[in-house]
Amino acid sequence: MKIAIVGLGVAGSYLMRRLAQDYEVVGFERQPIETFKAVCAWGTSRHEMNRILRLVDFAFEDYVLHEGRYMHVDLGREVLHIPLKGLCTYDKHRLEMDLVKGLKAFYGVKPSLEDLVKRFDLIVDATGVARAYLPKIVGDEVIPCLEYRVDYSGAPPLEDFYIKPFPDDTGYLWYFPLDNGSGHVGAGDVRRAHIQHVEEFMRRHPGRRLVKMGRAIRFTPPSRCRPFVSGKVVGVGESIGTVFPLLGEGIIPSLHSAEILYETLPDLNEYERRILEEFEIFEDIHRLVKLKHIGKLSLVRDFPIIYRAFTYMKNREERFGLVIRAGDLRKILKN
Ligand SMILES: Cc1cc2nc3c(=O)[nH]c(=O)nc-3n(C[C@H](O)[C@H](O)[C@H](O)COP(=O)(O)OP(=O)(O)OC[C@H]3O[C@@H](n4cnc5c(N)ncnc54)[C@H](O)[C@@H]3O)c2cc1C
Repeated sequence: MKIAIVGLGVAGSYLMRRLAQDYEVVGFERQPIETFKAVCAWGTSRHEMNRILRLVDFAFEDYVLHEGRYMHVDLGREVLHIPLKGLCTYDKHRLEMDLVKGLKAFYGVKPSLEDLVKRFDLIVDATGVARAYLPKIVGDEVIPCLEYRVDYSGAPPLEDFYIKPFPDDTGYLWYFPLDNGSGHVGAGDVRRAHIQHVEEFMRRHPGRRLVKMGRAIRFTPPSRCRPFVSGKVVGVGESIGTVFPLLGEGIIPSLHSAEILYETLPDLNEYERRILEEFEIFEDIHRLVKLKHIGKLSLVRDFPIIYRAFTYMKNREERFGLVIRAGDLRKILKN
């Protein structure tokens, strides 16, 4: 089978290496290689990343930039200090480049669907939020984000992970430390106040802005991102909504979807079934966050869904890289 992978971000670059073990694979990426940006805050859990990358003989540890001890969650009147269990930042740009090294990949190109259909048996849409090759999603929800990579010349404003949720959890501001006193400062907000929040932070903590990144993040869960398959095209990663709706965390879920495609190929019906099963909880969590956005979340009436979200995360502390405590979740949801 001859496979084209379009979009060489997290999911596409991993899938290139994974599929190249068994198939003829060609990769395409619209960004030129010299200016390629891995738009993201680069935060993830080292345990799960180690496990996944071992499947392609990569050592995730070689890419770690900052190993976190605490996530400081600023609720205004109170700051929660959540102990971490493997949350780190890593050099996402270098890993994405290394994963495709030695394979047949073209940068700075946006191939047409017609051309791809003629030349390949299967086309993987790994274009993230762009979802360039699958039909548009009806009622798609995306959250606009702005982020800077900032150089603080060895004197960063904060030593560890920091987030400040906005009222009604419509988004949050983050500071994620990188290496050598630099960090990612960003925000995403449904109410579109993200730019104002980032600029306020930058006024309080001025540093040298190295890279500016503006991109939306998909909030629609996989169950509402169908079809996953259309003609010869199949979607992986954020193109089919693999972003954990409570956190906007998409690296690990996107890799999980890529691995499911690898495991189920060539059976695309089985792929769809496995994706819906794996990400079923995202539908619940999406509902929970939406209720919070519109000020209608009741800690009593909606307890079953809150409990499901809590147990899902509690049972996967190493996967999320955080110690999950009921008290923290209650305070964040009540904020
Ligand atoms: C500002 C921001 C910060 C984030 N921070 C985190 C974080 O700290 N941790 C976390 O887990 N998640 C984070 N996320 C989410 C995470 O980055 C994404 O969910 C994840 O990268 C999705 O992986 P993907 O491979 O599906 O898509 P992407 O990584 O977005 O890759 C898609 C690729 O496709 C390319 N492309 C697009 N259209 C075309 C086309 N027509 N032709 C060819 N190529 C194309 C793009 O250039 C891109 O390289 C963040 C998102 C944003 C926006």
